[in-house]
Parts: sequence; C-alpha cells; structure tokens
Amino acid sequence: MNCFILIALAVTASAQIGFAQINYAKIEILTEQYTPNLFMLAGAPGDADLNHPDGAGGRIGILTGPDGIFMVDSQYIQVTDKVLAAIRKISSQPIRYLTNTHLHVDHSGGNGNIVKQGAILLAREELRKDMARAANMDPARLPNITYGMGDPIKFRMNGEVVDLIPIRAAHTGGDTIIRFENADIVMIGDFYRNYGYPYIDINNGGSLQGALEALDYLVKMAGPNTKLIPGHGTIIKREDIVPYRNMIMDVRSKVEQLVKQGKTEQEVLAAKPTSAYDAKIPGALGAVGGTTSADRFVRMLFSELKK
Ligand SMILES: [Zn+2]
Repeated sequence: MNCFILIALAVTASAQIGFAQINYAKIEILTEQYTPNLFMLAGAPGDADLNHPDGAGGRIGILTGPDGIFMVDSQYIQVTDKVLAAIRKISSQPIRYLTNTHLHVDHSGGNGNIVKQGAILLAREELRKDMARAANMDPARLPNITYGMGDPIKFRMNGEVVDLIPIRAAHTGGDTIIRFENADIVMIGDFYRNYGYPYIDINNGGSLQGALEALDYLVKMAGPNTKLIPGHGTIIKREDIVPYRNMIMDVRSKVEQLVKQGKTEQEVLAAKPTSAYDAKIPGALGAVGGTTSADRFVRMLFSELKK
C-alpha cells in the first residue's frame, strides 16, 4: 500500500515536471505561406516550450486545394484546437491525408484528433512499431496505413506532386522526408537542427550513420534554390548542409580519439569536444531534458563509438 502511494506520487511528480517545461496554453501557432497553396504552421518562439525556445512544438505542413488538405505532422495533442483554427483560416477543405516525419509527440501527438476530422494517417511501419511500444499509447495516434523503405509514395493532388521519401534510421528508425516537387520545398524532419546540436533518438531506432547518409541524400537531391524546412527552426538550403555535416564529423573524431585513449563518458564530457562550436550554435549549451544539448550530443557519439 505504502509502496503504491509512493509510485503514484513519483508518477505525479514527473508528470508535473514535464508539464512545467511546456505551457501548452501559452503556445501560439504562426502561419507561414510559401506558395499560393502550401503553408507551414509553427509554434511561436519563446518560453512556452523550453525544449524548443526557437519555436514551440514541431512544424506542420499544409497543402490546400480542391482535392482536400494534405497535412504533414500534427503537433502536441494539447494544441489541436489552435492548429485546426489556423488551418481553417487558410482553407475550408477537408483534411484528407496526414503523415508524420517521425514519432515524437511534438510531431505526432495530435494524430488521433486529426484522424477524427476524417483524415487517413499513413507513416513508416518502423514508426508505428516504436510508437506502439510507448506506455499509455492512445491507439488513435497510430498510423493505420504503413510503408517501409523503398521507392517514395507519391500523391498527386492540388496541382502538386508530394513524395513521401523513407529515410533509413536517422533521427529515429521511422523517418520520412516530404518533398513538394513543384514548389521545390522539402520538409526534412529533425535529423537536421539549427538550434542546439543534433539529436539522434537511439532508443527509437535512430543512428548517427543514418543521419549522415540522410544529409548526403539531401545534398544530392536538393537544387541550389530548394527550400529545406526542418521540423524546428529556420529554413535552410543545400549549401547549409555541408558545414553542418562537417561539424558532426569533427566532433565525432574528437570523441573517437578520446574513446581510443580509454576515456570514460565523464572524462569525454569533461574534455568538452564541442567547445569550438558552442559559441556559434544557438542553444548549444541550452538545457534539454536535464542536460545540455552539447552533452546530449557527446553522450550519443560516445555510446555509438563504444559499440
Ligand atoms: Zn524529433
């Protein structure tokens, strides 16, 4: 009995810590227009979501037109009303399709609410498997149509060709990038980020090697003027990818040398292998889940290189 109460208290406390970091009521959804019928919805910057001070939650893509709405990602479940209000300012068409760049709640939490609007939800089979493993998972959030690695799935609607391109284990094990061919715009999800260091979710199938391959793929696939739209943060172009990849490789080789010298994780962290970049990258030393972005990145490199 006492034990049960203690567990209940612990669960309540951690839930409150989680809520303290994200003030959903304060999240404001901003609309960015890219073409006459392609929009992005992104949380405003600020302190509403301390995991993403550069913009609360994950970015949503909205393609509108007479064939109905094609939607990429669904934000936190707590802000669906605000997301729907923003969509209705753009279009009164039904939401026909929803897909997810990856499984994290800031990108897929609202899935069930959007499906209730009549949307068909499709995503990677790997995403569904990892999502289904999470405790207290609402089955409404799970995609009912899934696909694996292979050729892109193509949607032809509203004068656009939309490609869902599966990416081998990068930010997570079930990443997809979404390319709008005619608009020359690609939503690349979270294997690239420009606030803080890269985050590879190893517990959900992500891998550094896959993230590097995904970056190489973007350089090959994108033209010089292609807009690459990350899940968070500012829009980039092909030319921004190479220095980002070089930074990863440089920090990786510093960590590798320390690992070869037999250093422990604590010793590697203390050596500050990211120090050459910390001042240049916004949010480099920002807090993420009880650590800094830099330390989280170094820990990931350490555990990958120890394998
Ligand atoms: Zn993510």
